[in-house]
Amino acid sequence: MSIKKTSNNLILHKRDLVLLKRSEEAKNIEIYGNMYECLKTYNTLSAAQLKEDIAFDDKARMILNHDTKMMMDRIKNEWHAKSSFEIADNEVHCQLCSRKTVYICYIENSITGEELHVGSECVKHYKDIKGAGSVISKVSSYRRDVKKDARQTEFDVALGENIDFCKNANNKIEQFPMVLPYKLHSDLKSVIAMCNRIRTVYISSGGDLSESINKFNLKMNEFCELYERAENCYAKNRRNPLLCTRKIADWLLKNGYKYVIENIQKANGILNEETLQFIYEPEFIKRNIFVFEKCLKQKDVTFLGTKGTVIRFKIQNDRFKQPIFFTMPIKDFMKKIGCHCLTQDGYRYSKSSLSASIEMTSENLKNVFNYYVSILNNTDCMLIFERRVSKYYWERKQHFTVSPWSIHSREIDPIYKIATLDTILTFIGDVLFIDGKSEKEISEIIIGKIKKGGKWIPKEEKNRGVKIAVEAAGMQKRREFIPYS
Ligand SMILES: [Zn+2]
Repeated sequence: MSIKKTSNNLILHKRDLVLLKRSEEAKNIEIYGNMYECLKTYNTLSAAQLKEDIAFDDKARMILNHDTKMMMDRIKNEWHAKSSFEIADNEVHCQLCSRKTVYICYIENSITGEELHVGSECVKHYKDIKGAGSVISKVSSYRRDVKKDARQTEFDVALGENIDFCKNANNKIEQFPMVLPYKLHSDLKSVIAMCNRIRTVYISSGGDLSESINKFNLKMNEFCELYERAENCYAKNRRNPLLCTRKIADWLLKNGYKYVIENIQKANGILNEETLQFIYEPEFIKRNIFVFEKCLKQKDVTFLGTKGTVIRFKIQNDRFKQPIFFTMPIKDFMKKIGCHCLTQDGYRYSKSSLSASIEMTSENLKNVFNYYVSILNNTDCMLIFERRVSKYYWERKQHFTVSPWSIHSREIDPIYKIATLDTILTFIGDVLFIDGKSEKEISEIIIGKIKKGGKWIPKEEKNRGVKIAVEAAGMQKRREFIPYS
């Protein structure tokens, strides 16, 4: 009883005395008299002890009875807290209060340079020491993290084998073999999000563990029910050729059509006329080529399959006895034609709705060249190949009428125009699908195109050009073999 009473009347606590004994301030005899000397033997000082100890002089007694706060404030001014703290890995006792401590902070006397290691609780007690606030908040945020870690372990241990439920459930949805109907998909996603939230909230703010685990289990059951519905949905649709499979969905994502997936979800995972316009995933196209071919009215065009981003075709008929190969971007095909083929019963399209790019292969170029030769035969135009410079020319024969009375005319030297591969192929492409026109009518269309644009040059100029080109090539060759000395 007497001990308690004494300690209740402490003038200086243990930690105050430790601090005081290590401070310069308290040694000032002018202000504190012999206080510093007298306190040397004390660990704490109570009012009773002060009263009984006759060694204290008047100044010391006056300060200790009335002004300890002022004195302690001045003492604290000599000290500052260091900004970092440590975690004890063995038994460490606070130098101020002697209690065992885990979080060790350091305070240093700015005058003497003496350092004390002190518990964070004692730093809190002297929170107006310079730097104390900062290290205290560091310790407490670390302790919060430690608590979080502990709760996370607690929660995950309680989950047992379901510890990776959210991750696994998400994977199951991401890898589901079809694009799921919108509501089902978002319900599944939101159940997973709820599970994750229950766990996160417990970890960050604590609460009743078993209640949180119960909630989590309920949501997990809800997920299982929904997932069963998803599996049934797949079983029902797996044979539908318009089912949007995982492969198509991944392809859409990779090609920046995420928004199309949402439209497919809203159409219950089945592709329709609108969404098919964006599907040019090669596997899907390959699977459906027979449908595209079936819907084509004419039978002289054959689908040869896909190559990269295009569909390859071949046309062979009375006009093109040697086949001409052409391509159309799958993207354009699906938008214009493919999306209708796969969704409208009895849909038919004409080959003229195809847009043809003539393939630039040597076999095709040979067939194209031969076609020009045969169609332009007996006209005043021709396509010729200047082998020495590997260049194509349009050649135009010229006639000169002898006299106004005569129907006879005399042929003079033809004129020429460079024929670029681009124009050669484009002109063919333009007449590729024409049916029901005579060969003469078609040759007139082609000649019209040849005559338009570009500059005709006389034979001598063409030959000069060829000669220069040949010589330049020869020079080049010689230079390659005889280096400058
Ligand atoms: Zn302490």
